[in-house]
Amino acid sequence: MEPKRLYTLPALPYDYKALSPHISEEQLRIHHTKHHQGYVNGANAIYEKLDKARKEGTDLDVKAVLRELSFHVGGFLLHALYWENMAPAGAGGGAPKGTLAALIEKEFGSFDRMKKEFTTAANSVEGSGWAALTYCQKTERLLVMQIEKHNVNVYPSFPILMAVDVWEHAYYLDYKNDRARYLENFWSIVNWDVVNARLENVLKK
Ligand code: MN
Repeated sequence: MEPKRLYTLPALPYDYKALSPHISEEQLRIHHTKHHQGYVNGANAIYEKLDKARKEGTDLDVKAVLRELSFHVGGFLLHALYWENMAPAGAGGGAPKGTLAALIEKEFGSFDRMKKEFTTAANSVEGSGWAALTYCQKTERLLVMQIEKHNVNVYPSFPILMAVDVWEHAYYLDYKNDRARYLENFWSIVNWDVVNARLENVLKK
């Protein structure tokens, strides 16, 4: 039987200095190599526990194991989305283009309004979590999603077009407790081409 596959840390699509001064090299390096790696290790450790118990036929606290697995896999997936929807300083930011721009206009009335709602959602996540832009294929509408931790409040099957990490570990070295200022700077490094491509891929299906 082929060995079962485990998670591996994806490489960043740019180097650790690329997002500076909006996100410093030290902040990004720790976030990627310690925190993101931590969710990879966490998910894999749980799989190893599952595989061992299945092999030996022993009992597991299934509810606790699944809860922990969902937390780590959620963290693993969200970080990968977040790295990719940012671009090196100078190459990102500005305003969305194409299909995404048109849909933002239709849904929110303007990009400024969308930015305001998204920022407010991100600023008001209680404790640790995320804000994400997502899309409902039934109503063909964009919507903003708040995510508590990595997995609470998620709409099942809605694709994430853009995500921003608002766990303190994402900004504390650079901004201390000033989440609002981190978010202001996030808008300067959004990779709108990636966000638009994600939307167009969803629309193709
Ligand atoms: Mn994080």
